Amino acid sequence: MGWQAEMASAITSPRELITELGLDPELASAAEAAGSAFRLRIPRSYLARIERGNPRDPLLRQVLPIGAELANLVDYTADPLGEGEALRAPGLLQKYHGRALLITTSACAIHCRYCFRREFPYAQQTSDSSRWSEALAAIERDTSIEEVILSGGDPLSLSDSRLASLTDVLQRIPHVRRLRVHTRQPVVLPSRVDAGLTQWLTQLRLPVVFVLHVNHPNEIDADVQSACGRLRDSRVTLLNQTVLLQGVNDDPDVLAELSRRLFETGVLPYYLHVLDRVRGAAHFDVPEPRARLIAGQLAARLPGYLVPRLAREIQGAPAKITLTPMFSGASSRR
Ligand SMILES: *Cc1c(COP(=O)(O)O)cnc(C)c1O
Ligand code: SF4
Repeated sequence: MGWQAEMASAITSPRELITELGLDPELASAAEAAGSAFRLRIPRSYLARIERGNPRDPLLRQVLPIGAELANLVDYTADPLGEGEALRAPGLLQKYHGRALLITTSACAIHCRYCFRREFPYAQQTSDSSRWSEALAAIERDTSIEEVILSGGDPLSLSDSRLASLTDVLQRIPHVRRLRVHTRQPVVLPSRVDAGLTQWLTQLRLPVVFVLHVNHPNEIDADVQSACGRLRDSRVTLLNQTVLLQGVNDDPDVLAELSRRLFETGVLPYYLHVLDRVRGAAHFDVPEPRARLIAGQLAARLPGYLVPRLAREIQGAPAKITLTPMFSGASSRR
């Protein structure tokens, strides 16, 4: 099966998911209610990495809608990062010097319940082909933009030919020196890294960085490792960002194992993000003092190059803010 067919055959029915995993049928009605606006979506290859019969599985928790999503809390909003303010052209966000981010599509192979763009107004802001021209023209006019980030949704939801038509234009802009792709696809749908994709990559003149999104070591199976191997063979630099999630990876041992497995997969840890306060995701939030303690415990276990930077995004700041790890006084040599 090709990746497009695999993407189309993702599980979208809570009942089917619950039957497949042998879980309590009671969970289905909550999942239906909580998933009515931002729907459940899980590729079958990801389902295979979830433990059957375990409602606390750390992968399942990332994707199963639960009643807590319906809580309406004042600090958790539709646009927690004020992205509406950062629009330079339809679908083009710029918050930081030298880097511009293109919202290429709303489509994702998986729906992560904590996604900070779960309420992003894609219909207005996705750069479809006619609108790309406006965003691309804005990039061309601004000679300070040296890196273009393809984001979304997941940019690898686009076909290879759509990606190529985009990069054909970008590569003709002399001041653009790097291409970055923010994608979860090689992790949640490793078959996406097929011959067509690697051909696109190897023919690019621009150096390419992929920032993957892995939250838990169980997400990295043999297929993901080979997909990352194919990306590396295509001269792609691989980095990873993780979101710190209550009940999923808020544990220094889990995060340390994630860093080790990433390294063995040819990927370096980049950011560990505290949750952006999007409506419906409050139950995933790890309070900042605890996040800094976990980061301290992580730093005390690993070489520096395997420790991601704990980061928070603050609207209007000139860069993502690095939070200092906190050490609880105990000796590090245990
Ligand atoms: C996160 C983000 C970036 C990338 O920031 P880095 O620190 O370079 O990884 C760029 N643009 C926007 C709009 C972002 O949200
Ligand atoms: S893959 Fe990324 S953009 Fe898509 S739902 Fe998950 S976190 Fe959001």
